[in-house]
Amino acid sequence: MRGIALLGSTGSIGTSTLNVLRRHPDAFHLAALVTGSNREALGAQVREWRPAFAAVVHGEAGDGISAGRDALVEAATRDDVDIVVNAVVGAVGLDATLAALRAGKRVALANKESLVMAGALVAAAARDGGGEVVPIDSEHSAVLQCLAGRAAGPHRVILTASGGPFRTWEAARREAATVEEALQHPTWRMGAKITVDSATLANKALEVIEAHFLFGLPFDRIDVVVHPQSIVHAFVEFADRSMLAQLGFPTMEVPILYALTHPDRLDDAGTTPFDPVAAGDLTFEPINREAFPTFGLGVAAGRAGGTAPAVFNAANEVAVAAFLNREMPFGRIPRVIEAALARAATGRADSLEAIRAADAQARRDAAEAC
Ligand code: NDP
Ligand code: MG
Repeated sequence: MRGIALLGSTGSIGTSTLNVLRRHPDAFHLAALVTGSNREALGAQVREWRPAFAAVVHGEAGDGISAGRDALVEAATRDDVDIVVNAVVGAVGLDATLAALRAGKRVALANKESLVMAGALVAAAARDGGGEVVPIDSEHSAVLQCLAGRAAGPHRVILTASGGPFRTWEAARREAATVEEALQHPTWRMGAKITVDSATLANKALEVIEAHFLFGLPFDRIDVVVHPQSIVHAFVEFADRSMLAQLGFPTMEVPILYALTHPDRLDDAGTTPFDPVAAGDLTFEPINREAFPTFGLGVAAGRAGGTAPAVFNAANEVAVAAFLNREMPFGRIPRVIEAALARAATGRADSLEAIRAADAQARRDAAEAC
């Protein structure tokens, strides 16, 4: 029985993780649940799962639920926890990722923001503490699954992108898109922030940086192709130019379970079996970089390295929040990010203080540009 701490239990990945755990009561034991502020949903989860520890980050303690900003790290470092599923959204996930790795845990990582902000520190924490990062993100899980059991590393990877809801929209219509339109993702049901990130393609830039840190690949060996059906999750090319792909109907439950069991697999009949005929035609097209400038800004920040990815991430979080609050139009998101990146000093990302400072400055610069 492996002990699980689930951070962000009330979200899209959080509830999908609980679906997976419900099917495997003999393999996993849910030790800790932490969420942001949704007490009601957490209360229902606590009644079902009876975890040893449950907490909200924002709110009051009571009814067996702890409260406070240290709750994520506390849950992530408990002795009865082997695997930390980090499914909180945004930069707030970083401390728990680092603490869990230093405590020797496996981090099943959905919170890609922590790796993008501090990839080198995350790797150092894993080395120092004996922990490991196993991605939940479907594209990165696909790469890992293609690599599993092979001595040879990847020569190149190709991540797929659905292209989001505005893939075929004219510029003027896309720039003025409403919140409701941005939240209509064609193939995935996810939380609001990542759904907007998929509409701008910021998500794919974050994933390119995530792949860089996870697999140690230079940026010119990480390609992206638009694949509107979201059936092929990633391709991996080897040195001899042979290529493998991982595919399946879009559901996060497959990569979540794999992140818990890697490199092994558990028998699981809980998701719709793949059917190539039902999947229909699979099509691929290049990213339209002109229509989706956020993608290029993010990849350029990744290539620049240092604190630039943390600046990109922070500015993106601020811009997406302003759009979701209806304070600015969709088309302004890349302009806000560009302004914050232009103002940011390039710095080394070798300490948490440096990353926090770059993140905080980028949030101020982005807020001003909104
Ligand atoms: P959701 O918005 O659905 O859920 C976010 C979770 O984080 C909620 O449980 C929320 O709690 C919690 N949370 C928010 N703010 C805080 C905070 N300050 N402190 C502690 N917890 C907080 O997001 P998703 O599940 O869609 O995404 C989670 C992460 O997984 C993101 O990093 C995303 O990029 C990544 N991811 C998601 C995929 C998906 O299919 N959804 C696919 C690949 C990656 P509360 O409800 O109480 O606010
Ligand atoms: Mg993904």
